[in-house]
Amino acid sequence: MTKQLQATVVTHGGAGGSRDQDDGCVFAARAGLDRLAGGGGALDAAVAAVVALEDDGRYNAGSGSVLCLDGHTVEMDAAVMDSQGALGAVACLQRAKNPVLVAQAVARTPHWLLAGEGAERFARTAGFAIHHEISERQRAKHARLMATLGGQEPATPGIANRAFKDYWNYDTPPAFTPCDTVGAVVRDGAGNFAVACSTGGSAPSLLGRVGDTPIIGSGFYAGADGAVAITGIGEHIVRHLLAYTVYGWIAGGMAIGEAVRRGVGLLPQEIDVGIIAVDRTGAAMHSNREMPCAEERA
Ligand code: ASP
Repeated sequence: MTKQLQATVVTHGGAGGSRDQDDGCVFAARAGLDRLAGGGGALDAAVAAVVALEDDGRYNAGSGSVLCLDGHTVEMDAAVMDSQGALGAVACLQRAKNPVLVAQAVARTPHWLLAGEGAERFARTAGFAIHHEISERQRAKHARLMATLGGQEPATPGIANRAFKDYWNYDTPPAFTPCDTVGAVVRDGAGNFAVACSTGGSAPSLLGRVGDTPIIGSGFYAGADGAVAITGIGEHIVRHLLAYTVYGWIAGGMAIGEAVRRGVGLLPQEIDVGIIAVDRTGAAMHSNREMPCAEERA
């Protein structure tokens, strides 16, 4: 008989967020544990936690997603994976309330990743209603970004604000003159692992930009030895295949706390990055920025 393990759900609300928002992460982690208590598996729990974070409105995912530079479009990425073979993701998905649920639905199709218009059409086919509501919080965040882009301080470290104007690919003209994502990792009592993550993408970004969040091995990974979720600037994270790199260290026997610290250390200090992970016995979270997060055990 398999030994029962202590069920654990770890959540984050994005590197660069505020610890004042830990309460939403605690709520989400408990939603995951409730799902396990109700008979759900690790994947159901990870998805339930991320749905709670998407619906919160304070994090850059689902209802809180950053607006694209045109001030209207919202493009979201999300992914799910578990240690039993489930894998699904969406990229540049528009007009959906809970991208993580669409990613979970993709896991049941012949494909693992659907993007753009095809992803949205799939969402409708799978029964998800059109959702495009923009909150005052999202508008205010966008206005702050526009102000930054109009100034000298780069809105993205190392990238001149001017680049977003030079490569502008929206229908409407640029309106300026010159990150926080969510994720959950779960270990259920049977020793299965799952990860789910969701983001409105990093800001600023051109239309069609995809970060690390829906890319297997970069923004997320789950296998027989654990689950890992990453947050931060996707363009840097993908270059290190960060989720798989950290998973590999854990699978190779490195202590989980050291693995997440070493993973964060791979990126230069000026680049936001945060990592949460679970393995057979432990859980860990680490970031080079403030990062709302929570760990709940059954
Ligand atoms: N990793 C996300 C992206 O690059 C953003 C974030 O984690 O805040 O799309």
